[in-house]
Amino acid sequence: MTSLKQSVRRFDLYAPPQIVSLREVADGVGAERPVSAREVLRRLDAVPSEVRLAEPVTTGTALGGRAEMVLRSNGTYTSTGHMRATGFPSFAFVVQPTVEGGGGRFRALAVHQGRVFGTDTPGDRQRNWSEDGRNEAVRQNWLTFARDARLTVRKEWEVSGVLGTLGDIATAVAQFVGAAAVTGSGGMAAALVIGSRLGEAAHEPWPFPGLPAGVTIASGVLLVFGPAAIVPALAAGVAVEALVDHRPLSTEEEAFAVKVFGPTLPPREQIILTNISGLDDRAFVVPGAGGSYLVNLGDHFDDPMAPRGKYRQRGQMLIHELTHVWQAKRWPATTYFCQGVTESTYEPGGDPGRPWSAYGIEQQATIVDRWYAADPGFLTGEFQKPHPNFSLKAAHPYDHYIHLHIRAGMT
Ligand SMILES: [Zn+2]
Repeated sequence: MTSLKQSVRRFDLYAPPQIVSLREVADGVGAERPVSAREVLRRLDAVPSEVRLAEPVTTGTALGGRAEMVLRSNGTYTSTGHMRATGFPSFAFVVQPTVEGGGGRFRALAVHQGRVFGTDTPGDRQRNWSEDGRNEAVRQNWLTFARDARLTVRKEWEVSGVLGTLGDIATAVAQFVGAAAVTGSGGMAAALVIGSRLGEAAHEPWPFPGLPAGVTIASGVLLVFGPAAIVPALAAGVAVEALVDHRPLSTEEEAFAVKVFGPTLPPREQIILTNISGLDDRAFVVPGAGGSYLVNLGDHFDDPMAPRGKYRQRGQMLIHELTHVWQAKRWPATTYFCQGVTESTYEPGGDPGRPWSAYGIEQQATIVDRWYAADPGFLTGEFQKPHPNFSLKAAHPYDHYIHLHIRAGMT
């Protein structure tokens, strides 16, 4: 019989150096407390480390295909499949394989679109897709996700249509995802993972005026588009266009950020603060369209420098979120939700000898925000100068991470 520790370590979700409590794991596998260790172990062993699902795609016309989705507990996924014109007419299509788990609370989806040609037009009869990727949210939500995973395929097609322009594609995809994001019970699911065409689209100008690049509304849901994910979100208040507030990082905030990050962040105009908040009121950072980085602060948008909660020093929360921008510039295929499954997702632990790359994204952000906040005297004095002398800051166990990684732009 395996030990609970061994079973837990099977999932990246609980990768060392995390200290994992039985209570956390019990919650993760949906066990009602009080529960025995044996029962938790039994449930945990029943969770697969890979979900592999396939479905035929039928349309009732001379167009058909197949979709397969593989998702793994380490957050990687593979979406493969094809569509084929089997007769006279040619088609344009959008196919959205969606894996749903945790009683529909979590959905991972891919979107593939293209054209296939029948005998009426010269061209390829079949279009194949195969896409590998990684999504942090898949890893973080794995236990919920894998419990009862099933694949559904939504599809839309038109005879000889051309899904040509970004506006068409973004609108079609947004409508698909908007509908997928609303669960049957009226709540919202996290919809993550996205097809490659949208990744290309993310480098073109955003076609929806009035909203920041990468944000749109479809089927009544506010959506944040990135190269690797579409995230249903909420504006502070109600999710309507008029209430989405956004602005680039100000010159003052940039000057502040440079003191910590040096020249390693994207240009100020590309860092867009918004009042959008994620599910459960989470702040989150996601690479947006056109090379932007959306820093979604919810109701903290009005004063991003204000101390709040565990971010006791002025500016500490902004430093935390900007660390996610620093990461997103280097690993764009991730969405950075600022609330892990558990607090231990954030806790970097007390071993400054560990390599920077051994830390999770929240641990890295916590290292930077704590390092920043560690010497209040320095913060209120020397740090206020345009070019603070950091040799006057009290020595800190995380100093080398800041100097050798953050400011050097080295992952
Ligand atoms: Zn964070």
